[in-house]
Amino acid sequence: RAKDAGGNRYELADPDSDARAIDRHSLTTRLPTALERDEFFLEYQPLIRMSDGHVDGAEALVRWKHPVHGLLGPDRFIPLAEHTGLIVPLGRWVMEQAVRQACAWHEERSAEAKAAAKGGRGAKNGKGGGKSGKSGKGASEDYRPLRVNVNLSPRQLHHPDLVPDTVAVLEGAGMEPSSLCLEVTESALIGADEDELKPLRQLAELGVEIALDDFGTGYSNLANLRRLPATTLKLDRSFTQGLQQHPADPADVTFVEGIVTLAHALGLAVTVEGVETEHQASKLRDLGCDTAQGWYYARPGPASTFQKGFAVTL
Ligand code: C2E
Ligand code: MG
Ligand code: MG
Ligand code: MG
Repeated sequence: RAKDAGGNRYELADPDSDARAIDRHSLTTRLPTALERDEFFLEYQPLIRMSDGHVDGAEALVRWKHPVHGLLGPDRFIPLAEHTGLIVPLGRWVMEQAVRQACAWHEERSAEAKAAAKGGRGAKNGKGGGKSGKSGKGASEDYRPLRVNVNLSPRQLHHPDLVPDTVAVLEGAGMEPSSLCLEVTESALIGADEDELKPLRQLAELGVEIALDDFGTGYSNLANLRRLPATTLKLDRSFTQGLQQHPADPADVTFVEGIVTLAHALGLAVTVEGVETEHQASKLRDLGCDTAQGWYYARPGPASTFQKGFAVTL
């Protein structure tokens, strides 16, 4: 991962030595008050629909603006928050912020579409929805809300308030459940019995999307897949990396091909992480991946870049 360091503002390249350099203890003691001090913020990274290059949604990624240590990436403090239990209120905060932001995007998109239809300049301004030919109020209604993806940690997954909290956040914002996608790592679900899967299943039944994050890194039990209430597989970026070589690593090609076929047969969509080059993007599109995320399209950024950027075909 050393190669990533150049472009990464959060110095995530070597979390182990970084964690040693910064006193772990000082982070842990500051962590509980950081939420009330408003030191966390979210960045959003677009999810791109591979068939047409449009932005389909965004993943919310939390950062900590530490008063002494500066900007810290989640790899530095999520494990601590998970360990101390702060992840539960922090995760709730993340979900609420992200859902509110998605609603704000939606309102803005709808307003823009309406204005475009009114002005009769739909063909020029309607580029985001790809429905520029429509006129009148139908045009704004055609804007499917952007989906927002929120990461859940194992501790949140097992917290009894997960379902009621999620429902409260959605209802509070007036957001369709299907506009929220909860990302859960495959490893968090390994060995989960039916009781432990129940909250996720309930959320899925409400229409919330469930993505299996970092898929392919753990002990992927393909037979297990059928049993999980997932709607999307997020292929880990290690596979994307394998496709970068010339020629692409045949083992990675075979793996991605097989997973895409299996996922689609099970009715799951496939998202790929860590797309950094055009070569990877076109290869993954050819292999049938549905959605992509990565620096090639956009780095994670503030919500404001989306407000202007969501209408742009990347
Ligand atoms: P993740 O959910 O797998 O998120 C994707 C990570 O890959 C993000 O790192 C993102 O910035 C990075 N990434 C995106 N595109 C590229 C690319 O093209 N190349 C490379 N090398 N990296 C790329 P980030 O933001 O540092 O987050 C790391 C992890 O922290 C996330 O991995 C997720 O597991 C966790 N995390 C982030 N936000 C939250 C949160 O709100 N709650 C919880 N529980 N975990 C979170
Ligand atoms: Mg994720
Ligand atoms: Mg991931
Ligand atoms: Mg990851």
